[in-house]
Amino acid sequence: MKAAHKVLATWSYEPGLPVRGYNDRMLYVDLTTLRIEERPLEPVMKEKFVGGRGFGLWRLWQDIRPTTKWNDPENAIVISPGPLGGNTQYPGSGKSLVVSLSPLTGVPIDSNVGGYFGPLLKFSGFDALEVQGKAAQEVVVFIDGPAGTVTIEEAPAEDPNSHVAAEQFTHEYAADEADRRNVSVIAAGRGADHALIGCLNFSWYDVRRRSARLKQAGRGGIGTVFRDKKLKAIISRGPVVKGDMNTPADLDRVAAAGIKLHKELHDYDDKQCRMRRQGTAHLVEVMDAYDLLPVHNFQYGKHADVAGIASPVWDERFTQGIPDGCWYGCSMACSKGADGHVLMTGPYKGDVVTVDGPEYETAAGVGANCGIFQADWLLEANFYCDTYGLDTISFGTATAFAMECWQRGVLNAERTGGLDLSWGNGPSQLELLHQMARGEGFGVTVGQGVHKMRLLFAERGWGDARLLRDIGMEVKGLEYSQYVSKESLAQQGGYAMTNKGPQHDEAWLIFMDMVNNHIPTFADKAEALYYFPMFRTWFGLNGLCKLPWNDVEPGDNAKTAEPAKVPEHVQNYCDVFAGITGRELTKDGLIRMSETVYNFQRVFNLRMGYGTREHDRGPYRAMGPVTVEEYESRAERYDKQLKEKAGVDPAGKGTAEKVKLLRAYREKQYESLLDAVYKRRGWTANGVPTIEHLTELGLDFPWFLDVVRPHL
Ligand code: SF4
Repeated sequence: MKAAHKVLATWSYEPGLPVRGYNDRMLYVDLTTLRIEERPLEPVMKEKFVGGRGFGLWRLWQDIRPTTKWNDPENAIVISPGPLGGNTQYPGSGKSLVVSLSPLTGVPIDSNVGGYFGPLLKFSGFDALEVQGKAAQEVVVFIDGPAGTVTIEEAPAEDPNSHVAAEQFTHEYAADEADRRNVSVIAAGRGADHALIGCLNFSWYDVRRRSARLKQAGRGGIGTVFRDKKLKAIISRGPVVKGDMNTPADLDRVAAAGIKLHKELHDYDDKQCRMRRQGTAHLVEVMDAYDLLPVHNFQYGKHADVAGIASPVWDERFTQGIPDGCWYGCSMACSKGADGHVLMTGPYKGDVVTVDGPEYETAAGVGANCGIFQADWLLEANFYCDTYGLDTISFGTATAFAMECWQRGVLNAERTGGLDLSWGNGPSQLELLHQMARGEGFGVTVGQGVHKMRLLFAERGWGDARLLRDIGMEVKGLEYSQYVSKESLAQQGGYAMTNKGPQHDEAWLIFMDMVNNHIPTFADKAEALYYFPMFRTWFGLNGLCKLPWNDVEPGDNAKTAEPAKVPEHVQNYCDVFAGITGRELTKDGLIRMSETVYNFQRVFNLRMGYGTREHDRGPYRAMGPVTVEEYESRAERYDKQLKEKAGVDPAGKGTAEKVKLLRAYREKQYESLLDAVYKRRGWTANGVPTIEHLTELGLDFPWFLDVVRPHL
């Protein structure tokens, strides 16, 4: 197939390795004009934006206008690993951050993804890759680090679906079998051609399985942008990876932090989260036990059939004894794969494949939230979401919404083109996926996401607009990830206030708030909603995975003053940052670093027409029971809250009235939370960062402050 490639543009450069974590240059590709060039890093990028998500946001701001839409040629995809990315001493250091203007939200989306691409790009000489424009025909971009060349090639023959594309391009562009581990492929798939929930797959070559494995930059539809640019793949081939390729300022300091963490993983993983056997899927029964597992579109938090998709199933289905790290040196090795799955449906029916996952979010969203508790259907849907380039979180939440619409008579067979969307119907769920990939049928409607679906159903008179808003689990246009937040006010904020939309990678406060009651007051919750989003933003600036931070804890962590922060690990990050970049960093300095980028992103939302208080409110389903059945499923709990917290005696009142009373109480609580958090973050009551706060953070660019002023 490679013989059918036609080289459209070639560019040569001087290869080189980063020094102290940076190459001080980035790669720029314009697919419209076929221009390829290197650009120096602007000093402000390193100084204030650090790398990763920071670089992506900075570059995207320069690339687009306030009126730019996701499918305009100037929309960019920026990929950057960050200064710590690619080190092999500290577990979880191989992430890439992808930033683009989202088709779902109209604001910037950032997505954190494993696989080898980011580090190989960096060791090929670039701190970031920025792609703008649109190709006239299907192309691949190939970055050959050892050769010092970048090409844009017409690639008409290869299958764009990710499991085929990753394998095919790895073989085509590696010099030989041994070289395959130095090649990483980014691809999407046919689903991303027709749905707005498209994701990107980043590959790494698994030498033990002798096949390409996949990790997803899932959220916000970046795969849809990728395919709209007529990209079939971006391929990075790097040099052979060795331990010190960031040329760190103090390798011993980095290695010391890494050795400490490797030992903790060795000693505690089996007793704590069992990531090395079960990956994040170990969370399924934990969430069920705490009434936090989304069931039937977040109506309920547990299900009698949960054992069908709980961790013992995955312990058995995942191939054990193979280190499944998505980058060298990650001894947490949670990227589990289910080998030997025989496909039951679709264009690859009968093929025997490795399914990458399921991770917790997929098991909860595609499984429990849709009432599907059969492991085989879950594996099948997981595989096809990935290969078609579709985000399992958005797909799960969007399908669950459609299924609830079916339950409530908003949808019927006539409206779905004959598909029965009853809870638990695995074959129908699969058919939705295949329709998305073929660009036909009701699958295309579901692929537009919850926001567009609920507006469409209301406009057609199929259902009540207010009910559809209450049960449509999206904010800012992005679907919720898979935790029931009804009993955690802090998590309601953690979801709805997130700049890109409701993704748990900013703040996961449910245990602190609901289970352990460690943040009882508004001030406590506001402090948590200041600290954790800022802290977790830092992973995205530096090419790091969040999981080794708190999915294993030091043995004495519980005795520390603030165990939720895992203070020893935060100190490790300060040491690793200083050890690689040579810039000393305190724990407070780390938070400040993130706060700068976080506020920049908030103002970016403002620039695009969002970013104020009205955009930080979620659907009521995320806050409390919408329906009588939901209330009655936990009547004792809600009656108690009405009496003890809201000061209303529930005795003698009908359920519908109690639903209303509880709603009034909870919505008021949420508004008070917004007030407290905005104040703590240095924002106005409308959620706008003040000029003083932005100036203090060093974001005093006149063109930037001009965006803010009209909102003050
Ligand atoms: S913890 Fe898991 S996802 Fe994170 S870097 Fe390691 S293998 Fe990859």
